Amino acid sequence: MKLLEDRIREEGVVKDGDVLKVDMFLNHQMDVALFREMAKEWKRLFDGEGVNKILTIEASGIGIACIAAEEFGCKVVFAKKTQGKNLDGELLTTQITSFTKGRVFDVIVAKKFLGPEDRVLIIDDFLANGCALEGLISIVRDSGATLVGCGIAVEKGFQVGGKKIRDMGVHLESLAIVDKMNADGSITFRQ
Ligand code: 5GP
Repeated sequence: MKLLEDRIREEGVVKDGDVLKVDMFLNHQMDVALFREMAKEWKRLFDGEGVNKILTIEASGIGIACIAAEEFGCKVVFAKKTQGKNLDGELLTTQITSFTKGRVFDVIVAKKFLGPEDRVLIIDDFLANGCALEGLISIVRDSGATLVGCGIAVEKGFQVGGKKIRDMGVHLESLAIVDKMNADGSITFRQ
């Protein structure tokens, strides 16, 4: 998606350890007008698939998932990274290794928010090694819901996640795929 690629070129910052910082418009300050265009693109890519629930993970996925949910006319559930005091009832759980924080944490969704009647689109900001998506996919499968696919804002194509998820037969659509983050700070996108 050219609009997103242009913003990454203009405002993205390449950090050590293969991390791309996009806090000017996505991860901290949020450009909701850009989110709207991204949401429209996901709607186009998953049109006719009967999506009736969007699943994401806190925190950075929530903003883009909410705008996407408006386009699809459905609700959003976000997976919580720690067990909150006000989560009652039965839980769907998994563990995820954080790429940016380098630690393992529990991820939880209340069973009452995901079930066999749901056709789920997973939305997240980044795809690196695929741990977050694998965890969310296992939660969808455990719930008995149908996984329609995954919509990602930025896939780092030089890491293994994209191949791993596509090899699982999952319909994965990334709006920008970064193939290379160069030493001079410039970025090469997959065409
Ligand atoms: P994965 O589980 O695919 O290895 O990593 C995905 C998660 O790590 C995303 O939810 C995202 O929050 C974070 N992440 C991975 N790579 C980057 C990156 O280059 N920049 C930022 N801002 N977050 C990243």
